[in-house]
Amino acid sequence: MKVLIIGAGAAGSVVAQKCAMNKDIFTEIHLASRTLSKCKKVQALCRAKHGVEIGVSELDADVVQDTVDLILKVRPELVINMALPYQDLAIMDACLETKVNYMDTANYEPIDEAKFEYHWQWAYQDKFKEAGITAILGCGFDPGQTNIYCAYAQKNLFDEIHYIDIIDCNAGDHGQAFATNFNPEINLREVTQRGKYWEAGQWIETEPLEYRKMIDYPEVGEKASYLLYHEELESLVKNIKGLKRIRFWMTFGDEYIKHMEVLQNVGMTRIDPVVHNGVEVVPIQFLKTLLPEPSSLADGYTGKTSIGCVITGMKNGSKKTVLIYNVCDHEQTHKEVEAQAVSYTTGVPPVTGAIMMAKGFWGKEAGVFNVEQLDPNPFMEEVAKQGLQWFVKELDADLGELTEKRAKYAA
Ligand code: NDP
Repeated sequence: MKVLIIGAGAAGSVVAQKCAMNKDIFTEIHLASRTLSKCKKVQALCRAKHGVEIGVSELDADVVQDTVDLILKVRPELVINMALPYQDLAIMDACLETKVNYMDTANYEPIDEAKFEYHWQWAYQDKFKEAGITAILGCGFDPGQTNIYCAYAQKNLFDEIHYIDIIDCNAGDHGQAFATNFNPEINLREVTQRGKYWEAGQWIETEPLEYRKMIDYPEVGEKASYLLYHEELESLVKNIKGLKRIRFWMTFGDEYIKHMEVLQNVGMTRIDPVVHNGVEVVPIQFLKTLLPEPSSLADGYTGKTSIGCVITGMKNGSKKTVLIYNVCDHEQTHKEVEAQAVSYTTGVPPVTGAIMMAKGFWGKEAGVFNVEQLDPNPFMEEVAKQGLQWFVKELDADLGELTEKRAKYAA
């Protein structure tokens, strides 16, 4: 399969290298990004570490015609979008014009509005069908692997699923006072927004990180976790039958929350422009310039990520709860592809998804799909081989009701 990867950041570097490590499947790999020097750095890594030559190009993927021209030059069978959510629609437009399959790891967001909704991309359904091409949305870890854990549970472990809690822990230490593990702008937009979960057929909003729960994560232990809205909830509500409640939890250390609140209080996470000395500046974009790049955190990062889905439902008339999860070690991923575990867990699923397309398991039908709509079984088998081993553990009970609030919101 000939593949074009757009975005040479922390996760894009993993995608390019993992494709290089599967050279029997990816016969040609081309990496394009806004900054050519970053593509060249990944090119050198692919050559030195994996013995594979990849092509590189400078590309501003906001300009549809430039992406069309590059696609026509490279002639890929699949474009993997590892740039930012702002580029999703422009890259989908370029794929439509050239009739090439599309895949990404994060849903479209308008740059001036922090809204995590699929409707903009779902609106491409008919156009992709008519063009006879496939778009696979949200094929990272969360969204991505977590959706596939739910689809796997639905297909193999339950007759009906009632409750899902996606639990996401990074228990690693990068040694910085404050840094984000993926693109700072996207990360801070996500965690500073109001929280939201779905129960009994409706969305319930919360204050930002209002609810807290101690969750016991495999290989990591108990960690304070906070309820927040995450985009996979929207598609899973539609695609998992019988669902009564779905929530998303993420761990944050006290230091991270302290920094985030100060930044928010002083206006540094604002996404609207402010005039400074006669120049328009978007505070969150300036903040991104100051913070470490996620790819720079890999060297010396210790500890593990532990991410999974706690799923409760019925099987043969009995109620049961399982946790399906992966644990990933920052030091090991650094050794393998010079990346930290968050970039690794984001980068391995799209490569596995691409392998699913190359082998004909996915992409048989034209249109726009979230990953849980596709067959999870061959993916689960392959993703373990590609570096993200997974486990199923029976639990005594689900995570229960919302009981504890963060001190700021406690009565
Ligand atoms: P980075 O900021 O490290 O990388 C983003 C890359 O995209 C940068 O190299 C950047 O270029 C490039 N880029 C930005 N704008 C353009 C453009 N207009 N044209 C071409 N290239 C562009 O972020 P990450 O690698 O951490 O994240 C990449 C993506 O993965 C994001 O969409 C993020 O939301 C998603 N993600 C998904 C996760 C999941 O589990 N589903 C988890 C984590 C991230 P430059 O270097 O010039 O700035």
